[in-house]
Amino acid sequence: MSESMRGTRLGSTSYEVDNGISAPRQLTTYVCPDAHHTTLPFAEEADEIPDTWTCGCGLTATRWGQKLQPQPVARTGRTHWDMLLERRTIAELEELMMERLAILRGFDKKSA
Ligand SMILES: [Zn+2]
Repeated sequence: MSESMRGTRLGSTSYEVDNGISAPRQLTTYVCPDAHHTTLPFAEEADEIPDTWTCGCGLTATRWGQKLQPQPVARTGRTHWDMLLERRTIAELEELMMERLAILRGFDKKSA
């Protein structure tokens, strides 16, 4: 009985499932200033593949293959303290601090 059922409509029915494999996809890679790579599949017909993508680290990643513009090194790591140390040594700062303290103590004595 099972033998007779087998083979019927052979070749006429395709069980290939197209669901979920809708559009061909192209992988687009983004590189952030910290050299993280993010690869995302975009539908090939999507004209609007973004040129930039927000990296997982929060920086803006540039699409690989686009003109990779050298990012100016942001001087965010430089604090006022760093800049101060470029002009003054610790010894000088201590001296200034002692002067300040002396003045403050002087004022305290006067006001007290
Ligand atoms: Zn990153």
